[in-house]
Amino acid sequence: MEDDEGPECGKPDFVLLDQVTMEDFMENLKLRFEKGRIYTYIGEVLVSVNPYQELPLYGPEAIARYQGRELYERPPHLYAVANAAYRAMKRRSRDTCIVISGESGAGKTEASKHIMQYIAAVTNPSQRAEVERVKDVLLKSTCVLEAFGNARTNRNHNSSRFGKYMDINFDFKGDPVGGHIHSYLLEKVLRGCEDEELQELHLQRNPAVYNFTRQGAGLNVLDTDEKSHHQAVTEAMRVIGFSPEEVASVHRILAAILHLGNIEFVELEENNLEQGHLAVTEEVLVDHVAELTATPRELVLRCLLARTVASGGREVIEKGHTAAEASYARDACAKAVYQRLFEWVVDRINHVMEPRDRDPRRDGKDTVIGVLDIYGFEVFPVNSFEQFCINYCNEKLQQLFIQLILKQEQEEYEREGIAWQTVGARPSLNPRVPGGREMGGGTVLGQQVEYFNNATIVDLVERPHRGILAVLDEACSTAGPITDRIFLQTLDTHHRHHPHYTSRQLCPTDKTMEFGRDFRIKHYAGDVTYSVEGFIDKNRDFLFQDFKRLLYNSTDPTLRAMWPDGQQDITEVTKRPLTAGTLFKNSMVALVENLASKEPFYVRCIKPNEDKVAGKLDEGHCRHQVAYLGLLENVRVRRAGFASRQPYPRFLLRYKMTCEYTWPNHLLGSDKAAVGALLEQHGLHGDVAFGHSKLFIRSPRTLVTLEQSRACL
Ligand code: ATP
Ligand code: MG
Repeated sequence: MEDDEGPECGKPDFVLLDQVTMEDFMENLKLRFEKGRIYTYIGEVLVSVNPYQELPLYGPEAIARYQGRELYERPPHLYAVANAAYRAMKRRSRDTCIVISGESGAGKTEASKHIMQYIAAVTNPSQRAEVERVKDVLLKSTCVLEAFGNARTNRNHNSSRFGKYMDINFDFKGDPVGGHIHSYLLEKVLRGCEDEELQELHLQRNPAVYNFTRQGAGLNVLDTDEKSHHQAVTEAMRVIGFSPEEVASVHRILAAILHLGNIEFVELEENNLEQGHLAVTEEVLVDHVAELTATPRELVLRCLLARTVASGGREVIEKGHTAAEASYARDACAKAVYQRLFEWVVDRINHVMEPRDRDPRRDGKDTVIGVLDIYGFEVFPVNSFEQFCINYCNEKLQQLFIQLILKQEQEEYEREGIAWQTVGARPSLNPRVPGGREMGGGTVLGQQVEYFNNATIVDLVERPHRGILAVLDEACSTAGPITDRIFLQTLDTHHRHHPHYTSRQLCPTDKTMEFGRDFRIKHYAGDVTYSVEGFIDKNRDFLFQDFKRLLYNSTDPTLRAMWPDGQQDITEVTKRPLTAGTLFKNSMVALVENLASKEPFYVRCIKPNEDKVAGKLDEGHCRHQVAYLGLLENVRVRRAGFASRQPYPRFLLRYKMTCEYTWPNHLLGSDKAAVGALLEQHGLHGDVAFGHSKLFIRSPRTLVTLEQSRACL
């Protein structure tokens, strides 16, 4: 890898384009991609294109080249962003976060792994054992979580079916001393994908099943790849601190889920269905489930065929299932077991990573770098509740991006009394920008940068009472039969005039939607048609208490620990649990609040083609992503603005030694004046603007020059 890029590689920063048009943007993106330059900046935002091939860009040597450098000293790279976040955290003791976004298959998870590797490589020079341990767990946790939470989809063969936000805690020396993982909405893959995929998932992602006799699941022979994957996961679990008993439990639970999934029911015709005369077709499966979950066989069977209901007061009766009810309950149980297992794994990892031995000198306050790798915007031929949640999540993140990068930027200029530069002007030195001793903030031709604010779509989803999630919750809490169709009708009534909502009912000529089944949201990233089928069930996420009690009474301590709510008596279970949608919304609101409190760095990932092949950049496909990620607006705002801004005192603290007028102290009346003198001495005053409390630096080169003169002392 070269340290510098020649002009044949295009512009390393989209801000340097001659003109900000989609054509110019795409031309540069394509040129760079062809030259193997998959990374390009927009200021401090990194745009990354998935190369779908191993490129010689990573590893210890590359890491060394980026370590301790400023963002612009080397060609654009994830390592540079990781380094910038790390340095911001260390220099200023600020919590930072790296938000990685992009559609499924765009390379988010790979990017997060490179970031973690960078951080692990540059920290703990003194090889402290505790720090080594934490780093080991941080790196290994990815492997384990992927084993449980990833699946093959048609868009990505290793698609993350859960969102992950990982905090890494650093001590005052800048070494990682702990971490914490939040996982978001593990898509319950058992039903979310085709049967074939399901089997594949459990085959490939849950190697444990190989130990068990298969039950007509069409299991393939274990190939060497899978075997080594299995070994890697088991080894990772061991390093993290799972005991051999726990690992064995996990394997058994996974196998039990597979067997459970194969159980089928028949209604016995000669009997009275009212009394629930139902049988399972293959009793041996029940034996397996009972054995693997360490629960009594008769109880397993009873839970499958009937449910207990409290019929007023303390009286409890047993009510038989129909075959359809039993199938539903079986699936709900399998999904719930899988989810609890996943959550338990995350909990265990968190427990091991909890920061210990805090240094008392820092009052136990660590600084944090958060890394967010969360499902990208998704469109399938048929989109259901899961896609709805995922796309809502992306709306929230886009909203955050707008607030942090676009809106905040413009608002800050206003606050600081910095006037606007014409949109589309060259980012080079602008004579109108006030500099030197002319410190009032002069007039620059002003023009707001237009961007689409998606707040209205977020509102459509999460608004109290009328928002889609609220209407769905309302439908779920209605006693008696409520259908997905009625839910859809209610949505139509509430949102018939919403510019981002439509349905066949509201737009009868649009044959791409089906009557009584589909609604469409105009997302910032494009239109998505959702089928309401299953929305109510999935939101209710209902599991009969009988199953919970069954699993709580397992003699397997690991399994039992996952079901504390199985203790409750049937007559106590009256409070309605929060719905899946509401839980998800709450977690998104908390996530966005958390991110907003940190200094953000952005990685915007682009998927070059739908075929997952190397060297092909499908222009139409990329254009669309560039458009919906708001990258052009990002460039425009950036060009209208400044690469960096720093409060005067902080700037002086860092650079005052480079100027005779400011070292060791200045006598110039104000820090602002002192900064002016310093910059003038360096001949850099033409590249800055002076805000009320902050210095705005237009070109990154200026910072590099300052850093260099500091280093030369
Ligand atoms: P999802 O939202 O479905 O989880 P994702 O954005 O996390 O998708 P990844 O799993 O990171 O996507 O990437 C998909 C695949 O693309 C990887 O399995 C890998 O084969 C390839 N890939 C991604 N980034 C790189 C890279 N930097 N170098 C080489 N291959 C890459
Ligand atoms: Mg992923």
